Amino acid sequence: MSFLMDTYRRLPVSFVYGKGVYLYDEKGKEYLDFVSGVAVNVLGHSDEDLTKALCGQATKLIHVSNLYQNPWQEEVAKLLVERFWTEAKVFFCNSGAEANEGAIKLLRRFFWERGEKRYRIITFRKGFHGRTFGAMSATAQEKIHIGFEPLLDGFDYADYNDINSVKALLKKETGGIMLEVIQGEGGINETDAEFLQEVQELCKKEGLLLIIDEVQTGIGRTGKFYSYEHFELQPDIITLAKGLGGGFPIGCVVAREEVAQSFKPGSHGSTFGGNPLACACAKVVIEKVSKLLDHVVEVGEYFKERLRPFGKVRGRGLMLGLELNKNCQDVVLKALEKGLLINCTAERVLRFVPPLIVQREHVDKAVEILGEVINTC
Ligand code: PLP
Repeated sequence: MSFLMDTYRRLPVSFVYGKGVYLYDEKGKEYLDFVSGVAVNVLGHSDEDLTKALCGQATKLIHVSNLYQNPWQEEVAKLLVERFWTEAKVFFCNSGAEANEGAIKLLRRFFWERGEKRYRIITFRKGFHGRTFGAMSATAQEKIHIGFEPLLDGFDYADYNDINSVKALLKKETGGIMLEVIQGEGGINETDAEFLQEVQELCKKEGLLLIIDEVQTGIGRTGKFYSYEHFELQPDIITLAKGLGGGFPIGCVVAREEVAQSFKPGSHGSTFGGNPLACACAKVVIEKVSKLLDHVVEVGEYFKERLRPFGKVRGRGLMLGLELNKNCQDVVLKALEKGLLINCTAERVLRFVPPLIVQREHVDKAVEILGEVINTC
């Protein structure tokens, strides 16, 4: 009997230890981890620098309220802003959903301050932004909404890669467009460059804020530090979480300075957001991932090529999807038996989001196991 709410379809394994790209179960069986906590453990497991920073900070100060100065946040924010395309400021929280809630609130507040009643946001079918009310309402997937209506008002759903469907939804209350550059939960769907340029132009022309959800794609996952850099976009707001703490929970909203000004004391907050322990981890992650970007591109391209014989491959860097012509849950289970952790998204898409430190030899091993299981399922 379990005391847990039944919110996850959990696989029949539990892990006790991890090192690099490997996890180990109670019997000492080794698993090659190509899930990495769903795009979280960017430095792999038990990274020495991350562990040192975490333990070192834990011996000094784990948490201090946001009522006081927080130099740890300042350091991490500086690193994030230095990589952003323009002057910006950062708000720290604890997860991707929370980061998106922050972005939604910031957009509303930005227009409210200007006396404009623009609060609606255009989001995209098959997108995913989280499970809290605002983030869930922004998520244009019916299965995520079942039983939770009425949703938060203010979201209009367009078709990905179809600028006309976006234009058709424009209303005088529309304040922004929010998207993932690669839809992660929706099946590793890529946006085309032309569409993104059209979105950017539309935002400029109509005075809309462009929000890029970088929760899954950010922190080097696609081979650029932020995935919007592939397309030279100029987002007003981006949201980050997942990889940011390398496994320690932390998320944030990064906003262009003019937009960020709309949050004033009392307008938004979080008890735990960006506490010293979380920031100590994020600092190490950002510094180390910044040096891994070429590696992500190189291994990602190699991996993509090795996956091609199995079917349609999508994605960039180390965020790849392989579309099968059947439900992929059996493949996931068989791979687990053979010591490879992979994940199935959008029912027919195998998702690969290994730690960013993964090497060609690990890719070879994963591909070998995939070869053994795909045809037997
Ligand atoms: N946004 C994107 C693009 C995501 O992939 C996810 C999680 O999968 C979220 C938001 C929600 O993040 P969290 O689970 O940390 O709330």
